[in-house]
Amino acid sequence: MALIITDQCINCDVCERECPNEAIHAGALYYEINPARCTECVGHFVTPQCQEVCPVECIIVDPVHIESKKTLLAKYHKLVSDKEKIKG
Ligand code: SF4
Ligand code: SF4
Repeated sequence: MALIITDQCINCDVCERECPNEAIHAGALYYEINPARCTECVGHFVTPQCQEVCPVECIIVDPVHIESKKTLLAKYHKLVSDKEKIKG
């Protein structure tokens, strides 16, 4: 699954720098997660790092983006591969 940030977000900016996939960015009203880049931290960490640091616990599982661990791992490998291509 990808995670999603709810409107309880206080825009503290703590989660953005913790995301290993650069999936979090400031949105129009509050921070947002790009589901195409969120692997639920699979491939990097055992637990979702954004959830670990959020002071108001407003990051939850997105019911619209349910994915298996296998799918999340494949997404992780694709993100790593794309990053390598950009580096050249
Ligand atoms: S769960 Fe991990 S990959 Fe997904 S947004 Fe949070 S920190 Fe980034
Ligand atoms: S850590 Fe939580 S409150 Fe802070 S910007 Fe991220 S989602 Fe919002």
